[in-house]
Amino acid sequence: MRRPLWPLLALLCAFLAPLLAEAQDERGLTLRLSRDWGFGGFGQIQGLFSMRVTGPEDLVRVQFMIDGLTIAEDEEPPFSVQFHTDNYPSGMRTMSAAGETADGGVLQSNEIGAEFLSAEAAGKATTKFIIPLMGLVVLILALTAGFSLVAARKRKPVAWGQPRKYGLSGGTICPKCGRPFPLSLLGLNMGLGKFTACPHCGKWSVVRSRPLAELRAAEASELERAGEKPQVAERSSEEKLQQDLDDSRYQSF
Ligand SMILES: [Zn+2]
Repeated sequence: MRRPLWPLLALLCAFLAPLLAEAQDERGLTLRLSRDWGFGGFGQIQGLFSMRVTGPEDLVRVQFMIDGLTIAEDEEPPFSVQFHTDNYPSGMRTMSAAGETADGGVLQSNEIGAEFLSAEAAGKATTKFIIPLMGLVVLILALTAGFSLVAARKRKPVAWGQPRKYGLSGGTICPKCGRPFPLSLLGLNMGLGKFTACPHCGKWSVVRSRPLAELRAAEASELERAGEKPQVAERSSEEKLQQDLDDSRYQSF
């Protein structure tokens, strides 16, 4: 035979329900501010915003206020109002809400303070963020380009197939000309690799360091390609003279 649990649970609920409702009444209303469109940061806002209120089940009316003056009233959940900061004087403003329950109780919400910015001031605040950030990026790019150019100028032309030393940063293979070169410690890390100029062909690309075996293989393959486009060494004047003599010797016969 089962024990009659249900009546007990019902009794418990009957006790708890009013307690819970009362607890919520005590907590009052919760006011939240959200940005629908515009600028918001560091307690400063500009644009289209929404105030939203949550409260007890029997909430029937909510008044939304800015600096204590009612700007809107809502009699249906979800209790909310959308407003534009430009419609209010700029400066520090306090947002709040008051609610009424079905039994005539009055509830107050928390207050939210924010500085309403004029559209112009918000634009300036945005610029204040972005300009230094862009300046920094440009500066880093310029420094990287400068260092790479200096490094490229200092470097002597490397003969085809000549084994190279790859320092701490390792080496890479230029995706443009296919020749390997050591990476400089400096250089703008682009996440996927370093933005750097190839000392052989001078073209810029984002490169990553490659294993030494690959670099050695690239050095070796330079020689093969050098065969296609042979780099003819200038003969010394002595050699030329000898050649001329040889030629003349043959001519005399
Ligand atoms: Zn190259």
